[in-house]
Amino acid sequence: MINVMQPALGEEELKRISEVFESNWLGKGKLVSEFEEKYAKHLGTTGRHVLSTNCCSEGLFSSMYLCDIKPGDEVILPTISFIGAGNAVCANGSKMVLCDVDKRTLNARVEDIEKVITKKTKAILLLHFGGIPCEMDGIMELAEKYRLKVIEDCAAGVSSKYKGRPLGTFGDIGMWSFDAMKILVCGDGAILHFKDPELRERAEKYLYFGLETKSGYENSVAQKWWEFDISCYGHRAVMNDITAAMALEQLKKVPMFIEEREKVHNFYSCNLKNISWIDLPLPIPEYCTTSYYFYHIQLKNGKRDELAYYLRQNGIYTTYRYFPLHRVKKYRNSGRFYNADYAADNTLCLPIHQSLTCDNCALIVDKIKEFGKKYC
Ligand SMILES: *Cc1c(COP(=O)(O)O)cnc(C)c1O
Repeated sequence: MINVMQPALGEEELKRISEVFESNWLGKGKLVSEFEEKYAKHLGTTGRHVLSTNCCSEGLFSSMYLCDIKPGDEVILPTISFIGAGNAVCANGSKMVLCDVDKRTLNARVEDIEKVITKKTKAILLLHFGGIPCEMDGIMELAEKYRLKVIEDCAAGVSSKYKGRPLGTFGDIGMWSFDAMKILVCGDGAILHFKDPELRERAEKYLYFGLETKSGYENSVAQKWWEFDISCYGHRAVMNDITAAMALEQLKKVPMFIEEREKVHNFYSCNLKNISWIDLPLPIPEYCTTSYYFYHIQLKNGKRDELAYYLRQNGIYTTYRYFPLHRVKKYRNSGRFYNADYAADNTLCLPIHQSLTCDNCALIVDKIKEFGKKYC
């Protein structure tokens, strides 16, 4: 089966992990700090703005507390969002206010967001679909005008930029995921970016029980190093040196990964462009760069599901992301979202990852064309 997504790990990661074993320290330690520093550099900033955590979903959940979003406050998010974003808002007792998206990019537009702003709106929880940047100029202007917090879910936008600036650094909080299905992978892990270094300080405590002092070695100056106090009822959500070891090696490979993904993207765009029943992803504006996380096509003939089955029977796994939150029954949302519905019913994400071979890509294109000849 050709996977739709797949990690690319090698000897370098293994070697780095074996060093962790030898060091006898598996927990959050030097390698986590090193990863935070290097990721900060990757973003063109410093460690004062960057903090690691155990997963991006934790970042979504914690962002509610950190942005001071209260029960009853409204948070706007595109209905095409990751399920963890919806849960984060609802678990906080806040009101999840969904907005529609652009039919082709699946990103929320300024007008989609502005339509649902009320006096109770406190924040926008934005998703950059597949690492393709939303229109940040307009969205940040809106946020300023209505004094809204902005939380950016750039889980998949590890190297995406908008007008030269990395995604995730526009809002109050931004976050990237390194789970098993992302581009840079380490099993589980994430980086959070905070515009305000003071918020980063608060977050660091919140993600470790709210502890005021550090325990163990780091606190060896204290006379009784087992005593402590807390500043809040914090979580325990940290990376460890095993995952950081992998992440450090993966970070070095990101430019190469993106290059490979771009090749796959261009191959599809070149070879599928004359198929009348397919809409290709829109070209991204020249002032943006993407991480090529998804390659999403849209079927104009209503046969998306049939194509997905056909490809799967031929050893090619595809999927659709993200199932719209307004269709999740538990959320009981009765709104109408015409573009999101169109996207959810007609979009298919084709395999794209850095281990996909030319033969794989050629086979995928052939099978899509074969499907067209038979059924379209
Ligand atoms: C993967 C993903 C997440 C969650 O990341 P984890 O690290 O697995 O918690 C959040 N948002 C989006 C858009 C994702 O793709």
